[in-house]
Amino acid sequence: MKNPIRTLTAGIAGLGLALSIGGAAMAQQVSLATGGVSGVYYPLGGAMAEAWSAEVDGLTATAESTGASVVNVRLIQGAEAEIAMVQNDIAYYAFNGDEMFEGEALDKNLGLAMLYPEVIQIVTLADRDISTVDDLSGMRVAVGAPGSGTEANARQILGVHGISYDDINEQFLPFGEAVDALRDGSIDAAFLTAGIPTAAVIDLDATHDFALVSISSDRAAELEDQYPFYTAFTIPGDTYGDLEGDVETVTVQAMLVVSADMDADVVENMLSILFDDATLERLCDTHVRGCDVSLDTALDGMPIDLHPGAEAFYNNN
Ligand code: GLU
Repeated sequence: MKNPIRTLTAGIAGLGLALSIGGAAMAQQVSLATGGVSGVYYPLGGAMAEAWSAEVDGLTATAESTGASVVNVRLIQGAEAEIAMVQNDIAYYAFNGDEMFEGEALDKNLGLAMLYPEVIQIVTLADRDISTVDDLSGMRVAVGAPGSGTEANARQILGVHGISYDDINEQFLPFGEAVDALRDGSIDAAFLTAGIPTAAVIDLDATHDFALVSISSDRAAELEDQYPFYTAFTIPGDTYGDLEGDVETVTVQAMLVVSADMDADVVENMLSILFDDATLERLCDTHVRGCDVSLDTALDGMPIDLHPGAEAFYNNN
């Protein structure tokens, strides 16, 4: 005899997306993994999630605050998130099972779009005697949230200066907490990898005299040599009120990854909404780095394989 409950379930599944409860079509829920609330991933991810929920048939997207890049690729691999904002270096290492993912390729992470540059900012207070990365030896340093791309960058940058975590008092803090710790004097410097201007730094600027520590061009070249995702970059002196001039540092790129489990048609549709004029305007209004998002540059430096839905979209657009 047929199990009546089973039959009912199969019947509902058979109705698929046409099923409606109280008039609203039942939508696929997807989670968009971002970063800490004082970064740029979180607000821009929120704006994307809103656009996708409103415009992609059968999809409801929610932006979640997380520890950022390294955590995010693991969330995708574990099917706990479907879309994520991630640094290009971390996406590459994850997909290829390299660096911090040695021996465990997180191959469910597929490329969706490149977004904007993320700048390595080493923040300190003006009255601390820190002017170069070498001065960080022996100091209390916030290196980013546990599992962040920032933390990987901090380790690599300190590394090319001959400094390891044995030589500093490292603290794993998201941007907002790192800035609070600078304010209350419990740390001396903090690494942040994020689009500029970054809310946490603007916040510090409002109450304290701060400075950004530069990375010399020699060390930047050494970094680029060892880790090809870094690019030398100059932070313009007018980025924050307190800066006394331009600051030399390096950048990586922010990108979107999507789970290999996502349906190709849905992914294609998500990209057409992402690059729709109304969405681009919404992103640009949310944060100035959102103005960098564009179809023209969406594949520049894509470090991993594209999702088949993304491939279809870019072939047709
Ligand atoms: N790129 C940072 C990280 O992965 C997060 C940046 C942000 O939250 O805007 O650590």
